[in-house]
Amino acid sequence: MENHNRFKSPQDPEVGRFLRSLGIHPLPTRLPYPVPNQVNAYLIEGDGLLLIDTALNDDESWETLEKDFARLGHTFAEVRRIYLTHGHLDHYGVARKIQDLSGAKVYIHPRDRAKVIPHTPEKQKTEKALYQNYLVGAGFPEDEAVNLLQISEAIRHHALPLEKLEMAEDGEIIKWGQVTLKVMNLPGHTRGMINFYEPRHRILFSGDHILPEISPNPLPDLDAAISSPEPELKPGEAGPDPFPRFRSLIQYLVSIQRVLALDLDLVLPGHGEPIVNHRQLLLDLARFYQDRQSKILAALGSKELTPLEISRELDRKIYYRRK
Ligand SMILES: [Zn+2]
Ligand SMILES: [Zn+2]
Repeated sequence: MENHNRFKSPQDPEVGRFLRSLGIHPLPTRLPYPVPNQVNAYLIEGDGLLLIDTALNDDESWETLEKDFARLGHTFAEVRRIYLTHGHLDHYGVARKIQDLSGAKVYIHPRDRAKVIPHTPEKQKTEKALYQNYLVGAGFPEDEAVNLLQISEAIRHHALPLEKLEMAEDGEIIKWGQVTLKVMNLPGHTRGMINFYEPRHRILFSGDHILPEISPNPLPDLDAAISSPEPELKPGEAGPDPFPRFRSLIQYLVSIQRVLALDLDLVLPGHGEPIVNHRQLLLDLARFYQDRQSKILAALGSKELTPLEISRELDRKIYYRRK
């Protein structure tokens, strides 16, 4: 493992020059959320265009994308492949729209496929019941749980569902223009999170697996319990899973070890600026989780508390900011 940083800071002009020399162009668009308030797609030039993620489905994002494509001398019709790092709205939002304009193939990891395909009313009902039970079990009053779920319903139009999909599996190699990307499945933030590792140029496209300022928020993924409770947890840390559900944080901590082992000069995240010192960031993050867990144990003492009560004992912030 090496520890020197090739780039001094995310603002180092060398970062932009380096990426342009490889035909890689970040495409940031604004998000209507407080945190994070923007999302990054990445365009890679080769024989046609390859996109990693897209943008939220709204007019402003679309206009920004159109302008950026024009500035780079490209059109949406040139897009041949779209790889989705994971199945969250702000990342797959307009993949369908670009697919309709270009005939591009859209790739996602099989474990996140269910998140982006059209939701049947039946599936919506099952999912709603699962999450409502989960929230009530975590200590939320029933009406608050209903409200929370209504918020996620209300923003569903932020992404267009996808019907024609290809699967991207761990270990797959993608050669495109000047880069060779290796697909890595790094479950945590979602089960089907994939990153793209470029070993020769020491780059990782990290989606929401590694973010510069906020913790990647490993989320409960309850439909995993009904769809396929397969064991994941490699490279062999925690023991067999006593619960038939995805243990996102435990899995996340296993997944960050795979990235910690990579020699990287640049991590290109799904939100925020490039990361030039991924090991420091991951060690800080591991410390943050350890610290949070000690605080939870201390808050519990010998009491019985619901997750909601615990979060109120600690503080009300549900996300982690390093700055
Ligand atoms: Zn996400
Ligand atoms: Zn995201």
